[in-house]
Amino acid sequence: MNANEAAVVIAGGGIVGLTLACLLAEERRLREAGIIVLEPREPQPPAAETGLRVSAISPRSQAILSDCGAWQGLPPERLGPYQRMCVWRDGGPGGAQRIRFDAAEQGLPVLGHIVENELLRWALWQRAADAGVGLRAGCELLNALIEPEQAAITTADGERLGARLLVAADGARSRLRQLAGLPWRYRSYRQRGLVTVVSSERWHEQCAWQRFLPGGPLALLPLADGRSSIVWSVPDAQADALLDGGPEALGEALTAASERVLGRLSVAGEAQAFPLAAGHAPAYVSERLALVGDAAHQVHPLAGQGVNLGLADAAALAGVLRAHAQLPAADPGDRRVLRRYERARKADNLLTLGTMDLFHRVFGGGPALAGAGGIGLAIADRVPALKRRLAAQALGSRGLVR
Ligand SMILES: Cc1cc2nc3c(=O)[nH]c(=O)nc-3n(C[C@H](O)[C@H](O)[C@H](O)COP(=O)(O)OP(=O)(O)OC[C@H]3O[C@@H](n4cnc5c(N)ncnc54)[C@H](O)[C@@H]3O)c2cc1C
Repeated sequence: MNANEAAVVIAGGGIVGLTLACLLAEERRLREAGIIVLEPREPQPPAAETGLRVSAISPRSQAILSDCGAWQGLPPERLGPYQRMCVWRDGGPGGAQRIRFDAAEQGLPVLGHIVENELLRWALWQRAADAGVGLRAGCELLNALIEPEQAAITTADGERLGARLLVAADGARSRLRQLAGLPWRYRSYRQRGLVTVVSSERWHEQCAWQRFLPGGPLALLPLADGRSSIVWSVPDAQADALLDGGPEALGEALTAASERVLGRLSVAGEAQAFPLAAGHAPAYVSERLALVGDAAHQVHPLAGQGVNLGLADAAALAGVLRAHAQLPAADPGDRRVLRRYERARKADNLLTLGTMDLFHRVFGGGPALAGAGGIGLAIADRVPALKRRLAAQALGSRGLVR
């Protein structure tokens, strides 16, 4: 095999692109024909301090990460399991305007794990290297030319690579999607997701707490070391004021906004804020190109579903390509084959995107329906079928809906 020729070139070594690479490498024919990942940001070995960015990994995503051998590479002492989710609006989590989900109620050992993004990326990178994936660190896709028989890309360093299939796993602002001319429907929430780590007076009880506030939801996600990871969606101007105020003022604001659910909160390190938006590509595939993860869809983080949807994309695309690779003269870039992946994923992604958008408008940030939010939570908590559907959505498993 020529080192500059591959069956599949994946632009983007984020969590989704690396998972796809690991899953594809399980199939000998694809591995031998070459799988290459281009990534500008090389993952770093685990740092002693907890990372700022974390993801709530659902049981279905855990299964995908176990299948590709990466979950086993995560340090167990850094995984924050949660058995409960408690979502409320006003009057505290014990009040009338709340909904609670319990692992035992869903017949599961846990509802999920809070995992540091950089730890997961490191475990996936190691696994991909062991599995024979060609990892190009510090390498950025600059240009792409898609022709009937082959796709060619150029990197920022001037290197040229040829592939039967290009995969855009390069995030919501995907350069590859833009180069291929695939449309992108986008709407800014005019909010930012403020993230930080806090220590609290009371233990988090392995519960993911979330309060819907008029400006946006505040989540307190339980970390393995007893602290909590914060994701607070706030209007742009409020994000600036909170960051400018310093750690002490931010801790006080978080304590008040959380209605002291864990007592007083103290900010333990730095804080950052990320712009929030909804985006969707009407087409996930074209000849010799597939979009996965945030390159195909961007959702509001209020239910922590972005990575989970992306991992489901990776599993679906890998499943289609691995099955197709068994055929003589298989061509992974064949649009008819890629369409199977699109059909498998689009409805699920659109459903989650629509549900998160509705939640955003009803429960936080969208004044039009805000009054209905508290009543909605109380009703959902008392209607078992509705509650099961919401739990299935949150757990990334429609199979849980009975
Ligand atoms: C505040 C916040 C909290 C969130 N919390 C959660 C959560 O709890 N659970 C959850 O499931 N989701 C969560 N999300 C969403 C989640 O972060 C994203 O859905 C997820 O990171 C998408 O993964 P990805 O691999 O598709 O894209 P990305 O993580 O964006 O990775 C894209 C990769 O492509 C690389 N790249 C970019 N350009 C190029 C190029 N030209 N060439 C090559 N490579 C390139 C980048 O360096 C990057 O590594 C949250 C999002 C925000 C903003």
